[in-house]
Amino acid sequence: MKYMSSILAIKYNKIAILYYDCKICDEKHALAYTPEFKRGIYRVPGHPMSKQKTPPEIQAIHDELGIPAHYASSCGLDFQPDCQSLVATELDVFGRQPYLEESAFIAWQEMQKAASEDGIELQIVSAFRSADYQKNLLQRKLEAGQCLEDILKVNAAPGFSEHHSGCALDITTPDFEPLEEVFENSPAFIWLCEHGKKYGFSMSFPKHNDAGIAYEPWHWKYAAD
Ligand SMILES: [Zn+2]
Repeated sequence: MKYMSSILAIKYNKIAILYYDCKICDEKHALAYTPEFKRGIYRVPGHPMSKQKTPPEIQAIHDELGIPAHYASSCGLDFQPDCQSLVATELDVFGRQPYLEESAFIAWQEMQKAASEDGIELQIVSAFRSADYQKNLLQRKLEAGQCLEDILKVNAAPGFSEHHSGCALDITTPDFEPLEEVFENSPAFIWLCEHGKKYGFSMSFPKHNDAGIAYEPWHWKYAAD
């Protein structure tokens, strides 16, 4: 913030974009003003001297896993603090108890109800996952002999998974294997593409996404209006 001399806040969707005069290169930069900003996490795209701040506890996990230091600034993903207002949902397809952020859960229930009225059953595969959970997930894959680079193509590093926010859901429907690309051929996926937006849900990782994450037709994230 010390480089900021003039601020112009514009509401752009759910993110306010601030513009400021940079004292390093004398240019104007756009700065995405997200809820994380309040916690001192910010991101200045395109500036060589700025990068996303990774909290020390997350950095320690990255060091432990051997995640490269430039991950935070180059992964194309935003830092996601662990959600602090979780509520229990219905059980997932494996019979486990998932949790969602409160408003995401309300939106999910509304969407599920609307889908079922159209004859579509939407089921939870996975919802909230903490940064610690993500750490264990990556550790297990490393121990199983997978290489870190390949793992990071399909799993975000701890601290950067949308599942930490409690607003992201992996969705499936009967007769489809969870977390498989073939979900894109399901009536549920077609329904989600057509109606998800109405309930605040959008697909985070479409084909050829900017974050360079593998196509995930099953992964949907809720954002309040
Ligand atoms: Zn997911």
